[in-house]
Amino acid sequence: MSDTAHKVVIIGSGPAGWTAAIYAARAQLRPIVYCGVPKQDPGPVLPGGQLMLTTEVENYPGFEHGVEGPDLMDRFRKQAERFGTKVIEDDIVKCDFSGRPFVLHTAEGKQERAHSVIIATGATANWLGLENEMRLARSGGGVSACAVCDGALPVFRDQPLAVVGGGDTAMEEATYLTKFASTVYLVHRRDSLRASKIMQERFLSRPNAKVLWNKAVSDVLGTDRIEGIEMADTVTGAKSRLDVKGLFIAIGHTPATRFLAGAGIELTESGYVALKNRNSYTNIPGVFAAGDVSDAEYRQAVTAAGMGCQAALDAERWLAATGVH
Ligand code: NAP
Repeated sequence: MSDTAHKVVIIGSGPAGWTAAIYAARAQLRPIVYCGVPKQDPGPVLPGGQLMLTTEVENYPGFEHGVEGPDLMDRFRKQAERFGTKVIEDDIVKCDFSGRPFVLHTAEGKQERAHSVIIATGATANWLGLENEMRLARSGGGVSACAVCDGALPVFRDQPLAVVGGGDTAMEEATYLTKFASTVYLVHRRDSLRASKIMQERFLSRPNAKVLWNKAVSDVLGTDRIEGIEMADTVTGAKSRLDVKGLFIAIGHTPATRFLAGAGIELTESGYVALKNRNSYTNIPGVFAAGDVSDAEYRQAVTAAGMGCQAALDAERWLAATGVH
């Protein structure tokens, strides 16, 4: 165990984590960022978060002509390091918030002590778990878990596309895709949608929207690029094929909170870190959260970055109020 506790340890290296680091470093708190290591969980998870799995990012302000997701994350990291952020390539696997300073346990068996902690571990998209789905998602073969990130790519223009899911995310993604696609097929496993009425209506009112009820995707077809999907009827079991040039999985996200098990951090019903009063405070004083791990709704790089800024400012003020300088 190190002799001295760090003022701020940031867990996670997406837009929220790096922005928290930039602010904390400029406030001379000498932050440590645990940026994690690459893993499959079951889809790919990389230090830098979901933008590492994206190609062109066109909606991050300040990049008039767009920026590659990994390039954007590299710039975030370099900016944080320029102000003295220390980056550790390891995962935090367990947290002990019962005493002060807090004790964080790493995957490599080390321990880190911290007066304050910012949780910014993000969320990962859920996948169906089909072998060909994962293969084509990893190779950029037309399978994606983010239509807003990837849907505007030229390869999807005027093509038939499919979206899987029946919640608000699926409606949002499917509606977005109707702007580019020839037809957007919403593939849903039941005969009614979970999404809010207004979001349903927004999608269903598009002339090129079509819902395939009671259908589960059972395989993704194509070698280098997706050519179609195989579906099983969830009532009759009958198999059918649909030719599509893109498949967007929108069946929810799982916030990365496993390492918080037993740590006493309050989570929402859906497993996100619960925030107090719309700022970054969790139920444990000195522990803050930012980005997708605590946001089921917006989930954008720019909102995560904004939350990272809030968390660093909250941590700075909290440390000053508790006498840690
Ligand atoms: P969600 O509400 O949990 O919906 C997930 C959908 O995926 C459900 O329709 C579910 O089907 C389906 N699904 C889950 N696992 C599946 C599987 N293995 N195979 C096939 N289908 C599967 O998730 P979400 O849509 O991501 O929304 C999450 C939260 O964010 C919600 O509270 C939502 O309201 C909110 N949100 C809000 C907005 C907005 O207001 N602008 C936008 C996006 C999200 P079943 O229905 O059969 O369970």
